[in-house]
Amino acid sequence: MGKSQEKEREERAEKAETAIRKIKVVLKQHKRPPLDKRKKLDRIKDILKRVPDRKQKILEIKETRNALAELDELLAFAAECDKDEWEDVPEVRTKPPKLGSKMSLGRDRIFNGSRSSVSWYKDTRARIIKKNARQHKGKIVCEDCNSVLELKEAQIDHIKDWARYQNNADLIYFCFDGWHFSGQLLDDIRAVYNDEDNLQVLCDSCNPSKSGKKGDDLNGPQPMYACPYGGSDECDWDKVE
Ligand SMILES: [Zn+2]
Ligand SMILES: [Zn+2]
Repeated sequence: MGKSQEKEREERAEKAETAIRKIKVVLKQHKRPPLDKRKKLDRIKDILKRVPDRKQKILEIKETRNALAELDELLAFAAECDKDEWEDVPEVRTKPPKLGSKMSLGRDRIFNGSRSSVSWYKDTRARIIKKNARQHKGKIVCEDCNSVLELKEAQIDHIKDWARYQNNADLIYFCFDGWHFSGQLLDDIRAVYNDEDNLQVLCDSCNPSKSGKKGDDLNGPQPMYACPYGGSDECDWDKVE
């Protein structure tokens, strides 16, 4: 082996030693990298299984084409680390973040699970009463005890607890702060709340919501799993604000 060739090997081993030291710091700092970065780190970890970290040992590696290519890969990765490309890489979450109560997907508000955020349409009450009167020869009748009611006595009631009706609204899926959620849009939930097929006229004493009976709880967005991309732009799920 010629002198210059030997010097070249020495230099390469020295560079590799420095690179590996740097890489090990980066590996320690990125325990749960997002999917796209994880693939890269897994590859580097795999190479490190075959490459010793001391210069003298590196010099003993049999210089096959494959071994040289792997050393080059380590050097290239260390250069990437130098350029701070690994500084702001997000971590994959282990727990879902807390959602705010007023979140939107584009222009659409996401239903936050609170009953108080849902309301009647302007004409729902009038339409239900009109329908009731049509079915009772012009009189407004309680659909439970059949007593005849004054207009102002008529109360609108959900036949099936409308929380169970919630499934009738489409599910949406979104990425928020490093976690994936399923949920529903407030407008869709409101349409379900106002679904005339599930509404009836009752008198005050037959109305369960007036007698203190509480309905089932409603569901806001449900956490699914950690965003594999740590919530970064690599993830193509809709982002929520
Ligand atoms: Zn009644
Ligand atoms: Zn995501």
